[in-house]
Amino acid sequence: GDLGREVERALTTIQPERLLVVTPGEHRVARLVTDAAEAAGVPLEEAADRHFTCSLEEFDRWATGRTHLVMEHFYRWRRKTLGVLVRDGKPEGGSWNYDAENRKAFREAPDPPLPYRARPDAITREVMDLVAATFPDAPGSGDPFPWPVTPAEARRALDRFVETRLAGFGDHQDAMWTGEPFLYHSLLSSSLNLKILDPRECVDAAVAAYRAGNAPLNAVEGFVRQIIGWREFIRGVYFREGPGYRERNTLGHTGRLPGFFWTGDTDLACLRATLGEVLENGYGHHIARLMVIGNFCLGAGVDPGEIDDWFLAMYVDAVDWVTAPNVVGMSQHADGGVVGTKPYLSTGKYVDRMSNYCAGCRYRPERRTGEDACPLTTFYWDFLLRHEDRFRDNPRMGLAYRNVARLEGNERDAIRAHADRLRRELGVG
Ligand code: FAD
Repeated sequence: GDLGREVERALTTIQPERLLVVTPGEHRVARLVTDAAEAAGVPLEEAADRHFTCSLEEFDRWATGRTHLVMEHFYRWRRKTLGVLVRDGKPEGGSWNYDAENRKAFREAPDPPLPYRARPDAITREVMDLVAATFPDAPGSGDPFPWPVTPAEARRALDRFVETRLAGFGDHQDAMWTGEPFLYHSLLSSSLNLKILDPRECVDAAVAAYRAGNAPLNAVEGFVRQIIGWREFIRGVYFREGPGYRERNTLGHTGRLPGFFWTGDTDLACLRATLGEVLENGYGHHIARLMVIGNFCLGAGVDPGEIDDWFLAMYVDAVDWVTAPNVVGMSQHADGGVVGTKPYLSTGKYVDRMSNYCAGCRYRPERRTGEDACPLTTFYWDFLLRHEDRFRDNPRMGLAYRNVARLEGNERDAIRAHADRLRRELGVG
């Protein structure tokens, strides 16, 4: 049976004094375990999950009384509290954040060192066979399966990352390139989320590499920010916002997720590349998720719940506590601005600047209407028009709306009409 029924069955058979659990990582599991304990009449006791550097109580104390939860404020507080890259209360190198240095594109094809690949043992092989037999028509492929499944493998993946790719992590963190899904990223999210790797180990190893002169500060600070900043901030938001979070749809988007999300078969080169990588590896790095896949869905107006289901199904690191705030919050702004103060939305020109995708695409990123207009660009302008009342006065969107104000009346109509046509053609509805 399912987890809840099996726990209930075990409790009824064993009749223990109490059921002791580590705080479940997602609302669904918490509900199952609580219901099972109640049904079996066994008291439930929770122990804090120590696989994170910030407890839920600490997060709540930090968040209480703030009108807006800003990740950067949370992150600086965590750096000071944990004493990471801090000297006498001041940030290492004089600045808390070196993100401005981490947005370089590649001018030519990159040649990053290969990441660690675990070799499946007998148990993993058995599971791979089981999955293939049980879900023969599932999209993508579960073979090969190079992801760590034991603490020893996860530790090797961390060591390999720190030794060979951490130094390059910063500069090109936001860049993308055809056929290079991993670049200088760590590929540690699945190990961290499976709790076979401790975030403190990751931070210590990266800081040690900086102290030894093996990795620059912009790379190490950037990596540390993802681990003790973004990751723990996202978890805090998930638990603070409660079980209804993933159903939110503040912008009222109701479009369908196009069928090509399950095949990668589309003539948008950026989506073809990033969806293809997910189907092959169950992985895409942050900017591929946010600024290609999420950006397309947000502009097109796809229902955030459908997008969240897709992300949960497709990525090796997907777990509700981290997928929902990233998809519903950060990427679709469907939480009304809890995770991000403005929507992450761009025209195709951003993708063109950060990748080589557009060179091989039939659409032109600078065009917003016409046969060869890039759908990302059309949808960007259409989004601004559709949600003008909501976002016009957002101080972070001032420039975008000054550009909207320059549009002639007939251009507005042409953008809207072209966006509607694209939605129909692409299967969004
Ligand atoms: P790196 O780039 O090497 O970063 C290092 C680590 O920082 C990651 O392993 C991860 O643990 C952590 N991290 C970085 N950014 C975030 C973030 N925004 N939220 C939480 N942790 C972060 N991450 C998941 O773990 N599971 C998901 O299901 C997931 N879904 C996402 C969906 C969308 C739409 C977006 C925009 C982001 C999502 N992320 C998710 C966050 C992030 O994209 C991945 O953690 C990261 O790409 C994993 O690859 P990596 O290990 O190579 O990361």
